Amino acid sequence: MRHLVTGGAGFIGSHLIDQIMQDENAEVICVDNFQTGAKANIATWLGSSRFELVRHDVSEPLRVDVDKVWHLACPASPREYQRNAIGTSKTNVIGTLNMLGIAKRCRARILLASTSEIYGDPLVHPQSEDYLGNVNSTGVRSCYDEGKRMAESLCFDYARTHDVEIRVARIFNTYGPRMSANDGRVVTNLISQALTGKALTLYGKGLQTRSFCYVDDLVRGLMALMESETEGPVNLGNPNEITINELALKVKDLINPLAEIEYCPLPQDDPQRRKPDITKAMKSLSWQPIEELETGLIKTIQNIKKQMPLGILN
Ligand code: NAD
Ligand code: UDP
Ligand code: UDP
Repeated sequence: MRHLVTGGAGFIGSHLIDQIMQDENAEVICVDNFQTGAKANIATWLGSSRFELVRHDVSEPLRVDVDKVWHLACPASPREYQRNAIGTSKTNVIGTLNMLGIAKRCRARILLASTSEIYGDPLVHPQSEDYLGNVNSTGVRSCYDEGKRMAESLCFDYARTHDVEIRVARIFNTYGPRMSANDGRVVTNLISQALTGKALTLYGKGLQTRSFCYVDDLVRGLMALMESETEGPVNLGNPNEITINELALKVKDLINPLAEIEYCPLPQDDPQRRKPDITKAMKSLSWQPIEELETGLIKTIQNIKKQMPLGILN
């Protein structure tokens, strides 16, 4: 069984590869352009005869023969996907088209890493798969949100038109070891700031909510979806909703109770509430997350410490 994992050198992709490679009959082709990924994330596998690394941008055509496609390539951090916004749209639209082209030619099943951003700044709470969303098509997040909506649209058209077997996962905020310490996402920002004695930056009043899922839980969900008969879309995330203020307090408790808080302007179109309704995943995949936020944060903190140069820590 040969697997193509796009974005495999990234945070979630590298954990997924670790799990796929546990099957001794599995071969993995990891395709990544290293926009936000790192070789260190897949270092364990570089010497394996069952593993190949290809530096390639998925928005260019690619010819490989595979049985399964896991399409994760796309920066996930708002700062990173907005840095090259047109590139993000190309990755999501042309990149997904190309991966569907591979799936169609090889008769391979393809799983798309879609996102809760499909729901935009949601007017329905919690979000279930039948909510159609509230997305600003002209805002700074649009390259990602509308890009992923188009990616989903392409998947369903390839299924209807060419009988491609698709699996669409709508991933909610996921965290854990191997997130890049300086990627600008809230979990990494707060941990890095607390570890280096800086004030914790909270955007707006910190009253917006997110629901954080530990990466091992998420990868288990992706693998269950790939093997299931459900094409999706399926929400994968942890329904434990907390405010960003509460997250900051947890990080303070775990690293430095005296850390200061600095309130900063709220970015444009920042979703105010987000929590997955995971009824569909529970019923159709028998999946639910199990990791407690505190335990997951402790493992993430250990990993971020390792990424920091010696001497910079508190
Ligand atoms: P990440 O930025 O760590 O990983 C993305 C990987 O894709 C990186 O290795 C990057 O170099 C690579 N990449 C980006 N553009 C590419 C291109 N054009 N061609 C080839 N490679 C490219 O992000 P992540 O958190 O691991 O997210 C993985 C996937 O999951 C993304 O599709 C993201 O949209 C989705 N997702 C993640 C979250 C989350 O909270 N982490 C939430 C929702 C959806
Ligand atoms: N594609 C690719 N690798 C493949 C097959 C297709 O990169 O092995 C690309 C191809 O270049 C095209 C896209 O995927 O841009 C969609 O392919 P499809 O065959 O569906 O469309 P067509 O080529 O007929 O327009
Ligand atoms: N955020 C924050 N401080 C930071 C980074 C982010 O308060 O240093 C907020 C951000 O405004 C958003 C939430 O934390 O409301 C989650 O942000 P992130 O960039 O991690 O992901 P998002 O869910 O917005 O894609």
